[in-house]
Amino acid sequence: MKFHIITYGCQMNVYDSRMVASLFEMDGLEETDNPEDADIIIVNTCSVREHAERRALGRISSLQKLRREKPELVLVVIGCMAERLGDKIPGADFFIGPRKYDRLPEIIKKIVKGKCQISNFQFPKECIPYPNPDGGVTAFLPVMRGCNNFCSYCIVPYVRGNAVSRNPDDILGELRYLRERGVKEITLLGQSVNEYNFGEISFPELLRIIDREALGIRIRFLTSHPAYMSDDLIDAIAECDSVCENIHLPIQSGSDRILKLMERRYTVDGYRHWIQRLRKRIKGIALTTDIMVGFPTETEENFEETLKIVREVRFDFAYMFMYSERKGTKAALFPDDVLLGVKKERLERLIELQNGITREKNEELLGREIEILIERKSRRDNLPIGKTRTGKEVIVKMQNAKTGEYVNVYVESISGWTGIGRTHKREK
Ligand code: SF4
Repeated sequence: MKFHIITYGCQMNVYDSRMVASLFEMDGLEETDNPEDADIIIVNTCSVREHAERRALGRISSLQKLRREKPELVLVVIGCMAERLGDKIPGADFFIGPRKYDRLPEIIKKIVKGKCQISNFQFPKECIPYPNPDGGVTAFLPVMRGCNNFCSYCIVPYVRGNAVSRNPDDILGELRYLRERGVKEITLLGQSVNEYNFGEISFPELLRIIDREALGIRIRFLTSHPAYMSDDLIDAIAECDSVCENIHLPIQSGSDRILKLMERRYTVDGYRHWIQRLRKRIKGIALTTDIMVGFPTETEENFEETLKIVREVRFDFAYMFMYSERKGTKAALFPDDVLLGVKKERLERLIELQNGITREKNEELLGREIEILIERKSRRDNLPIGKTRTGKEVIVKMQNAKTGEYVNVYVESISGWTGIGRTHKREK
């Protein structure tokens, strides 16, 4: 019996797909890369943008041919779109949204037993296994799920439910599990990760607890919300050796009026304050962000304010999007009054500006000696490739640098956005 998983969307979905894979594997099913070989196909979906939903629906529709040829094939849709649309999605057998993930073992048992005649699926429903990293050097580790923020444009709180922070003992259990399997870099996940709070334990405190157990593992975290930034968090990043000098802090817009309509609960000045504190306290920290253009009522002047803050902050990298209306959110009640052509033109201008800055930021690597964690071999020339602590990719001209090794690299050139360097191996 084989299963195949198709994943769309964010890092949390990537993690959830591995969790589902572990559940199927516990029942003796084998994962396959080829959907045609599979007895069960799982499509893990995203609802954050209309485009993401269209892609998943297109894929589900293209799988119908396989379903006709193989009537016993089971098609399962999970993720945010399963929560949002459920059985309104045509052509699938099961729908499991993130709000039901605590029941995944039980539901998967039904799926496996019901249609595929396998009956040896036995473990308590509380026992969701830690996803196996499968030899990977990097892994995701959710520390909280859901979100309470209800930013006016965002569907996540509706489909993923309220924020729930995970017990630190369980987090440490999974961290040790990953460490024992050779993982060298862990990204802590949460929709608004710095809002983490479990009893007395805040997110900065969690970072300190994790740092004591990291033992040579690099730690990153995603996604931070500016409204939950604190000096204590900045101190924790600075103090904890394992925590990388890298923060993803979405600004979304450079206009206070638009930020208010987005219900983001910070101002541009407030955001600027945290950037200054981060840069002062953590030398060389890399800052990445998300920016949305064309939010309802955004004027040319508001957009210029976004360009202004982008020029000022000089982000290392940005994910840039056009606003896309999500039914059921507060922003969907506003008139989507920025014409598509205008949204596209603004996005192009923003991308051109930010890409230039990203290129210049990457060029700052030139001539420097930097620690790289080798993650894999590059596709083009089969050379080891890895990341700096600040999250920048570097190809290493040394065939015998192994995946999972930390090496010190002298960056000699930049190709596209990737550094290329020579190395000396380093003990860690
Ligand atoms: S913080 Fe805002 S944008 Fe992020 S998931 Fe929560 S509601 Fe959505």
